[in-house]
Amino acid sequence: MGNKVAVEEQPNLKNYKQEKSFIQNIFTRKPKKKFVLGIIDPQNDFCEGGSLAVLDANKIFVPINKLRYLCVRHGIKTFISQDFHHLAHMSFASTHDKPVFSNQKLNLVMENGDKLTVTQTMWPTHCVQGTKGAEFYSDLFLFYNDKIIQKGTKTNVESYSAFGDEFNNQYEQTGLYSWLNQKKITDIILVGLATDYCVYNTALDAVKYGFTVHVILSCIRGVNPTTTSNAIEDMKSKGVVFYDEIFEFVNKNNRIFNNINLFL
Ligand SMILES: [Zn+2]
Repeated sequence: MGNKVAVEEQPNLKNYKQEKSFIQNIFTRKPKKKFVLGIIDPQNDFCEGGSLAVLDANKIFVPINKLRYLCVRHGIKTFISQDFHHLAHMSFASTHDKPVFSNQKLNLVMENGDKLTVTQTMWPTHCVQGTKGAEFYSDLFLFYNDKIIQKGTKTNVESYSAFGDEFNNQYEQTGLYSWLNQKKITDIILVGLATDYCVYNTALDAVKYGFTVHVILSCIRGVNPTTTSNAIEDMKSKGVVFYDEIFEFVNKNNRIFNNINLFL
């Protein structure tokens, strides 16, 4: 036994070199990519017949469900954000008795007493807690382990982003960042509604937090053509990666995704 230990302790230059390069690799190599799928606000009020229906929103659910299948096959988790407002939310035209879609200057008092002045778009009443409009659109496949992220739950602040409010998430934190961090996520595949508001703001926050964001155009729709194309240009300029279809996304990330061509 004593001899054996002595033999193993003999310096071995070859092993030493291997070990040194192995240790160097640990510190210099890029961390492995870990993807998550994020579906933004796939809710009844944003779909056909809803109070804030986005044109052609219903068309995103076939490709999103295919993407879900692909992600399940690769062990990729999904979070789904849910706009979830109080009936007197500050973004509702009805709260202030102002015209729908106008922009209004609002003086707001936060829960902690902070006073803020913001310019806010006056939306039709939508996604009110406990109503059918706030529920997920029935064409979307849901799985038992989907992570649901509710946002816009604070009456006095807007949260377009799934990470939280527009003031660096200081008045509403949804918990999304810590969930992603805990799971060591590096890349977010972002889809859903609406391109020019909640997808846009979620993507910008995600980039700010250091995630790589992948957006698939067939799986998003916007409220307004001009703000949608401006949002896409801005996201591109900030490093968000765009793909036309799921097929293109799979091909360009084929080190992670096998090309499952069952029905893509
Ligand atoms: Zn909302």
